[in-house]
Amino acid sequence: MVDLHSHTGASDGSDAPFTLVDNALSAGVTALSITDHDTFAGYYAAKPYALSKGLDLLCGIELSTKYLGQTIHLLGYFPRAEPAAAFGEWLLILQTKRRDRNQRLVENLQKLGVKITLAEVEALGKTMAGRPHFAMILLQKRYVKTMQEAFDKYLAENGRAFTEREEVPLEEGIQRVREAGGIPAIAHPARLGRRTAAEEAEWIEAAVEMGMLGLEVRHSDHDATAVKRYTALAARFGLLTTGGSDYHGTYKPDIKLGTGKFGNVSVPTEWLERLRANVS
Ligand code: AMP
Ligand code: FE
Ligand code: FE
Ligand code: ZN
Repeated sequence: MVDLHSHTGASDGSDAPFTLVDNALSAGVTALSITDHDTFAGYYAAKPYALSKGLDLLCGIELSTKYLGQTIHLLGYFPRAEPAAAFGEWLLILQTKRRDRNQRLVENLQKLGVKITLAEVEALGKTMAGRPHFAMILLQKRYVKTMQEAFDKYLAENGRAFTEREEVPLEEGIQRVREAGGIPAIAHPARLGRRTAAEEAEWIEAAVEMGMLGLEVRHSDHDATAVKRYTALAARFGLLTTGGSDYHGTYKPDIKLGTGKFGNVSVPTEWLERLRANVS
């Protein structure tokens, strides 16, 4: 079984990198890509262990980018060689911007009377600490009753403590991945929220013009109709097809490694082979 989309505790998953490798193997996954948000730390931590256990581990990442005012998740796969050092340095700059935003978010929350510190947030989220970690702390300290309430009240774009994080333009993300020898792919296109099939196709065409090379056709959020539509769109624009569960461990308990939500994900081995050969 192949799964090309998963998260470790280096970003917002619950599994430590080793645990993810063990869980993938127990689930029957033979080839896995770790695609943490904006970091390779989980991938590099898991790599020697995966090798010793015979799990085929593919280097990947999921970048948060911005296009037309919307946050777009961009997958990057490095099937032949790990990305050049310059790409890692660029990620460090992104992490600094994230940390600055987190500092401002802490200050805004403190002004609203919430007792929270950056150290607490970073103890949970490490270098990839983000709003979900803020939400967990707000929940633990009983400022809210659910994670969603933490977003609605404080952390979402219209929340009381919200502050913008400078995000990379989608086009720059695509170019950086390609320059580093990787394959950029649109993550979970169903979440783009395009209302009509025509609007969706137009959006994907724009991404192709920016240098996009792949489309995540299979994903836990995609039902059979969506999979059919994205298969056709990938063929129409000559995009490589990718797929994965988007596993986040116990944080998203419905999503299983390799098979997604109630078995709605299955990724053909040929898709991984084509990614490695880089032919659509
Ligand atoms: P960050 O990268 O730190 O800004 O956090 C982004 C993450 O927060 C997303 O990947 C979601 O998991 C979560 N998130 C963002 N907005 C919302 C929202 N309105 N409701 C629930 N979760 C959200
Ligand atoms: Fe995530
Ligand atoms: Fe995503
Ligand atoms: Zn993801």
